[in-house]
Amino acid sequence: MSTDSKIKTTACPLYQGTFSVGLDKKFNRINRDDPPAKGALKISLNPFLIKSADRNYLFDIGIGDFGEDTRARALKESIATYDLSGDDITDIFASHLHYDHIGGLAGRNGDSWELTFPDAKVWVSEKAWNKVMNLDEYYDEEKSQFIRFLDDNADLHFLKEEDQPYPEIQVKKIGGHTEFSQVLLYDDGNQKYLMAGDVLATRGEVNRKFAAKYDFDAKTSMKMRKELTKKAFEEEFTVMGYHDSHHPLFKLTAYDEKQGYTITQIETNAAS
Ligand SMILES: [Zn+2]
Repeated sequence: MSTDSKIKTTACPLYQGTFSVGLDKKFNRINRDDPPAKGALKISLNPFLIKSADRNYLFDIGIGDFGEDTRARALKESIATYDLSGDDITDIFASHLHYDHIGGLAGRNGDSWELTFPDAKVWVSEKAWNKVMNLDEYYDEEKSQFIRFLDDNADLHFLKEEDQPYPEIQVKKIGGHTEFSQVLLYDDGNQKYLMAGDVLATRGEVNRKFAAKYDFDAKTSMKMRKELTKKAFEEEFTVMGYHDSHHPLFKLTAYDEKQGYTITQIETNAAS
């Protein structure tokens, strides 16, 4: 084994901001501690970087140029704070294909687009990608151009409903939030991370039973949320909460029938 293999894996949320998102689905910036506008949802965005000895992964990649005062290239600046450049990102996995999760794959470049991480493999559910490609429009004209650009230019790799593209990465279709939503699991025998996109997106969702209006299939989402929290607790995964405003990395450290799970926040770069 090379000495590199001794490098400890770390996970870091790359916080992009907090937004108030109403019926028009526009992402309007608010402060991290502020409530959203009336009738709107408060949504923070945290793409996750997993730095391991062999590869640097991103689990979901943010809203790119599509939010208020957001930029695809801002992600490169976040990554630089962890001593990585854009070329160092080897693999990007998408939990699902909503634009606040994959918008960062490319940024505007004049009349066209430019891949944010041109060297990275982009892993998506094959069925989800085909579904999007068969839509007449992906949200609007601009985002349709964006997704076509990715289809032509990104180094896309397609995942089956159950797949294991690397020994440490397992992907499984869970559905719920979208028809082909996936849970992304990282396990190198030492560090374990579970990322379920919007099926389990904040700490607040762990102990709450709710059917979400924004889900494709709210019942499946509820069922999967229950299964995944149980799995995270029993198998000691660190959960990655993509939309959590303050502590997107957490573990479920105890269970009580009345109180539910005890949630323990995990500090960035201290996931041991
Ligand atoms: Zn989302």
